[in-house]
Amino acid sequence: MDKLYTFGKYLKQKYNKKTKKIPISIPGFTCPNIDGTVARGGCVFCENESFSPNFQKEKFTLNLKSKENPLLQKQLNALKFQFFNTVELYKRIYGSEKFIVYFQSFTNTYAPFETLKTLYETALQFPDVIGLSIGTRTDSIEDKTLQYLKDLSNKYEIWIEYGIQSSNNETLKKINRGHDFENVKETVKKTKELGLNVCGHLIFGLPGESQKEMLQSVKDTIELNIDSIKFHPLYVTDNTLLALEYKKGNFTPISEKDYIDTLIKAIKMLPQNVSIQRMTAGTSNLLAPAWCRDKSKQISHIHKALIKAGIKLK
Ligand code: SF4
Repeated sequence: MDKLYTFGKYLKQKYNKKTKKIPISIPGFTCPNIDGTVARGGCVFCENESFSPNFQKEKFTLNLKSKENPLLQKQLNALKFQFFNTVELYKRIYGSEKFIVYFQSFTNTYAPFETLKTLYETALQFPDVIGLSIGTRTDSIEDKTLQYLKDLSNKYEIWIEYGIQSSNNETLKKINRGHDFENVKETVKKTKELGLNVCGHLIFGLPGESQKEMLQSVKDTIELNIDSIKFHPLYVTDNTLLALEYKKGNFTPISEKDYIDTLIKAIKMLPQNVSIQRMTAGTSNLLAPAWCRDKSKQISHIHKALIKAGIKLK
């Protein structure tokens, strides 16, 4: 890639309107890597109740085998509340005109099919919504759900976001991911064969990885024929297994210099048609590294590095 192709540009070209994703967190959703179906405790960087007795969690959580869903009304209320609050904000701040509802937290295909259908279809009826983006794991999406999403994609902009993180199976074991890269390959292939849009998430700075492994993950992910990508540095927040390791001195976070150097090389490797949805991430709820606290500062450093590397921003 020699000209930065962001997801915003992709949407603007396609719809000729300023379009933003609205992140949603559905109460009662969990993850098979937390509830014991695949593993307990989750990925080492995942904030969940295993590491904090005070973590806000529903007493009842859903999984693919759930027969009942006493939370449905609460979930619908949360969806509406979060959507309408954020829409107003985005209209005011960014002048956004169209929206994609982004089911972001936990595993958003890991619930009874009827629940998923109700939530997705409710979201698609909200004003100015053109589609959905659904964050999930490659081991937690049923063929029935994929087929249903394919049917929706005839009318709406539908994206599936898979957490890939690394293509290195040793790393995936170290971070307690609960599936290997073969599972990623198989599910992404199936999703692409149905004609659905796929966004892959990668993390730089995972335990034990050098730049060689990180760029190998980029190469392997591109080979999956993904349509979009998100890059993310591994940072440490409280209530995670990684925080315990960091405090014991067993984990050193990636430096900003190494992160940006890896990111620029990764962007150069991308085909021009693969849009970038995220180049970094930041949070205020942070243990380390300090440079991840301020996202706008990071973006400014990344833009400077892109220009220096000859990648046009516009
Ligand atoms: S897949 Fe996502 S929700 Fe599940 S444990 Fe990993 S980070 Fe947490």
